[in-house]
Amino acid sequence: MQLDDLTDFFTNRQYHFNLNKVVLGVDIGGTFTKLSLVTPLGHIVGQEAFPTHSHNGHDDYPKRLVATSKALVNRIDSSLLGIGIGAPGCDPKTGYISYAVNLPFSAPFPIRDFFEENLCAHTALIKDSSAAALGEKMWGGAKHMDSFVLLTLGTGLGSAFYIHGQLVAGAHHLASELGHTVHIPQGRACSCGQRGCLETYVSARGLQRNLSELFATEITPSHLREVSDSDRTAEMITQAARGGDELARQALERCGVELGNALARICLQLDPEGIFLSGGLTHAGGLLLEPLQQQLQKALLPAFRNKTTVAISALGGADAGTLGAAAQVYLEQA
Ligand SMILES: [Zn+2]
Repeated sequence: MQLDDLTDFFTNRQYHFNLNKVVLGVDIGGTFTKLSLVTPLGHIVGQEAFPTHSHNGHDDYPKRLVATSKALVNRIDSSLLGIGIGAPGCDPKTGYISYAVNLPFSAPFPIRDFFEENLCAHTALIKDSSAAALGEKMWGGAKHMDSFVLLTLGTGLGSAFYIHGQLVAGAHHLASELGHTVHIPQGRACSCGQRGCLETYVSARGLQRNLSELFATEITPSHLREVSDSDRTAEMITQAARGGDELARQALERCGVELGNALARICLQLDPEGIFLSGGLTHAGGLLLEPLQQQLQKALLPAFRNKTTVAISALGGADAGTLGAAAQVYLEQA
């Protein structure tokens, strides 16, 4: 990517970044915490990752987070321009992570102050899915789009709406909770307390539940029947589907169909140029995308068909979160 591209993004103004400085992008996920050192051109020059949950309880997590960050920053010669943290359930205004059912924080946690004190660097906090959308806009497939939607299909389902050049934040920084909109009334119980949320069907956990449901109602053989429900990972199910496992294929197809229906409603409401999918579930490729596309086109009104493109994030699922968190710092400093 050329430096000129940065001026594109920042609405025709010229900005000059010190190319010897980097930003630490932190992606706090329900399963893994990932850290990347990102240059202004979107290149990753150092990376770390560790499991978010450990056996040492909640108090241990912030300490591990800071220790890993310091070790990574100390490994390179460049100085730190700032830190961007992408996390679910956070309030960018107050700097707290206050509501995150999948994270090891026992109470509202002042993550921004904690980083600023321990690493002595400007720290920005952004919702995880908004971070991925900013990364897609700055360095990915949405570079030339003015209105697009980004979904993160990981442990849960995150979403971000970027409309007319702006991330939609809402009056209370709570907008874009597509994962917890009721998709099937009286459907599956969700960790948020509701029933039938979209993420209980379309996410890594949703995929596991799709397969468990099929095992309970179908007699088709599958070697995954020998693996306990909690040990059956999304990666395992995707591998099995690729290897010809019919029920694993159907479990992924269910994710695609439900997502196609949900995206049809989004298209009718927002008419975006593109929809980008990121996160671990996208490793399924066509096994997810084909049923999704079919259902989406079927569910759309004729005037909307074949207008919005649906694609897997150009940033690569694993790095989208850290790149996006870093993009927020470049945006603030520009
Ligand atoms: Zn929910």
